[in-house]
Amino acid sequence: LPAIFEPARPVLQKIEAAGYEAYFVGGCVRDTILHDDIHDIDIATSAYPSEIKEIFNRTVDTGIEHGTVMILDHGNGYETTTFRTESGYQDYRRPDKVTFVRSLSEDLKRRDFTINALALREDGEVIDLFNGLADLQKHLIRAVGDPNERFHEDALRMMRAVRFASKLNFVIDGPTLTGIKENAPLLAKIAVERIRVEFEKLMLGQNPVAGLKDFISTGLYKYCPGLANARDILSTLLLLNHWKLENEAQLWAALCIQLQLGQKEIGKFLKKWKTANDLITRVKKVVPAVREIQQKSLMPVTMFKTGQEALQDANQVAKLYGWAIPNQELQAAYQQLPIKESKELAVDGKMLITKAGIKPGPLMGKIIQQLTTAVINGKLANDTGTLLNEARKIMEEG
Ligand code: ATP
Ligand code: MG
Repeated sequence: LPAIFEPARPVLQKIEAAGYEAYFVGGCVRDTILHDDIHDIDIATSAYPSEIKEIFNRTVDTGIEHGTVMILDHGNGYETTTFRTESGYQDYRRPDKVTFVRSLSEDLKRRDFTINALALREDGEVIDLFNGLADLQKHLIRAVGDPNERFHEDALRMMRAVRFASKLNFVIDGPTLTGIKENAPLLAKIAVERIRVEFEKLMLGQNPVAGLKDFISTGLYKYCPGLANARDILSTLLLLNHWKLENEAQLWAALCIQLQLGQKEIGKFLKKWKTANDLITRVKKVVPAVREIQQKSLMPVTMFKTGQEALQDANQVAKLYGWAIPNQELQAAYQQLPIKESKELAVDGKMLITKAGIKPGPLMGKIIQQLTTAVINGKLANDTGTLLNEARKIMEEG
C-alpha cells in the first residue's frame, strides 16, 4: 500500500480488533490502483458511529447524522463512515433517508460508478463486487447497476460521470452515456452549487475536452445556468489545443470570453452559478486583460488594475487561444510599472488637502485618479512635489 495509507492502518486494525469490519473506500482506492495522487482517505466500517466513539477516545462528529465520525489519531484525522443504504430519492437528489447497515456489499451498491465502488482492506486485499478493477483497466466509467435508475435516484451523478471522464481521461460506457442523454433534464432539480463543483472539476481535469464533449453531446449543458443556448459556443471550446487551466478564475474567465460577455454580464452570469463574490471580482479583472493581450495592446493602466496574480491568470487563459505573451516578458513589463498599488502614489488625500488646498469631494477622487494614471504611464514622476504641482494645476483648470 502507498505510504499515505500507513498511518491509517492501525486505525482499521483497531476497528477490526473490536469485532467490526473496516475498509478504505471510494476515490482513494481508485487513485491508488491508477497510481494517481491521493488527497484524502475515506474509511467505511460496519461499526455504528456510537461504536466508533467507544473504540476511540478522540473523535469529532463531522457528519454524524450521515454516519461520519472523524477519528483523531497521532495528529491525523480520519473520516470514517458507517456502511449505509440510501432510500427515498423523491426529488432526484440526495436521499431522504440513510439507513446504517452491517454489510459492505449494501454500501458499495449505492455508490455511483464501478471504479468508485472498490474497497481495500488494511492488508491490501481489494473487494471488487462490480468489476471495477476491469473497468479501471479499460478506462471506463460505468454506473453501478441500471444507469437509468441510478440517475433517477440522484441526477448529480450525471455531472459526476462527465467530470470523471475529464479528471481521469476515461470513456463513459455506452449504456451509461445513453442513460445520461435520457435523463439529462433531471439535472434541473439539482442545486447549482453542487453542479458547479462538478463542472469546475471537469474544466480543471486531465482531459477537459473529453469531459466537455460528453457534457455537450448528452445535453447536460442545457440545464446549467446561462448555457442553455450555448451549444455552438461550447463546441468551439473543443477546438482549443492548449488546455491547461490552473484555477477557477481562469476557467470562468475563459468561459466568459467564449460567451463574449461584457463586464456587467459577467457578474450576472457568475451570480447565476452562485460563485463567491471574490471570484467574480477576480474574473472581472482577468477578462479585460485577456482581451488586451489578444489585441497585443496590454496597457500599463490595465496591468496596474489587474494586479500580478490576475495578470498571470489572464496570460494562462490567453494561452488557450495561442495569444499569450512569454511569461518573462509579462513579468518584466509588470515590474516596470512605476507604482503597483494605489498606496505607493507619492501623494494621498490628506496631503492634497493640507498642501494643495483641495477640498474633500468628488473632484479629489478625480484628481487622484488622474495623477495615478499619469504616473503609471510615465507622464509624471512619482514625486510628492511634482504631483502636488500637477494637482494645483488641475484644480485651477477646473
Ligand atoms: P475525488 O478524488 O474527486 O474526491 P471521489 O471519488 O473521492 O473523487 P467524492 O465526491 O469525494 O469523490 O466521493 C467519495 C465516494 O463517495 C465516491 O468515490 C463514491 O463511491 C461515493 N459517492 C460520492 N457521491 C456520490 C453520489 N452522488 N452517488 C453515489 N455515490 C457517490
Ligand atoms: Mg474524495
